[in-house]
Amino acid sequence: MIELALLLACGAAAIFLAAIGTGPAQGDLRFNAIHHAYFGAPLVLTGAWWHWLGYHPAFAIVLLWLGVVILADDAATHGVQRWLKRPGFQGPLHRLYGLAYARCSWLRALNIWLDTRLR
Ligand SMILES: [Zn+2]
Repeated sequence: MIELALLLACGAAAIFLAAIGTGPAQGDLRFNAIHHAYFGAPLVLTGAWWHWLGYHPAFAIVLLWLGVVILADDAATHGVQRWLKRPGFQGPLHRLYGLAYARCSWLRALNIWLDTRLR
């Protein structure tokens, strides 16, 4: 199960980075630059690391899979926006994150800061 989670996380991360990377759709995607993947990826890494250390193994698996789901939702959102050319599409977690993003100034500031570092 760990291997499957890590494989899915790597695939989702690759799709996410390819979708938000430079290219013709960059302008539209920057406009919709709300990325909970920035929080899903550290959950995956923390869960995998804790599992490897044997630190709270059950909780580590929960963290790992939670991160995979968050990362996959953001990757699917931006993959559909970019390659299916539906800039308004949002996955279910992306909608929830968008609500928090709109209401929480520190979350918005952190997201924008991470966005400028990764692109
Ligand atoms: Zn996003």
